[in-house]
Amino acid sequence: MSSTLLVAARTALGVDFEEDDSIEVEIPAAEEPEPECSEGAHDWTQDWVQGKGGGVVVQESCTHCGCRMTTDTWATRPDTGQRGYTTVRYAPAPEDEDE
Ligand SMILES: [Zn+2]
Repeated sequence: MSSTLLVAARTALGVDFEEDDSIEVEIPAAEEPEPECSEGAHDWTQDWVQGKGGGVVVQESCTHCGCRMTTDTWATRPDTGQRGYTTVRYAPAPEDEDE
């Protein structure tokens, strides 16, 4: 978890959550930095899409380096517990392809 990212996002939005936490704001997505690709740029191919609550979870993998990207549009925001938070996570290519 990156609390630094959340603090930076709050600062960028100019919202003081301490004074009025009833303010509805557009929640910035929590995206991890993209790992480097062996071919310079990833070529994402969708592996699967799964419904989750009011959103979806999408997994894509790179045809070059095999690394995985998982986008969750129904994640729980870590600091407020609010649903509908979008997170993007990356994972290295699995060592054996026996799925
Ligand atoms: Zn790649």
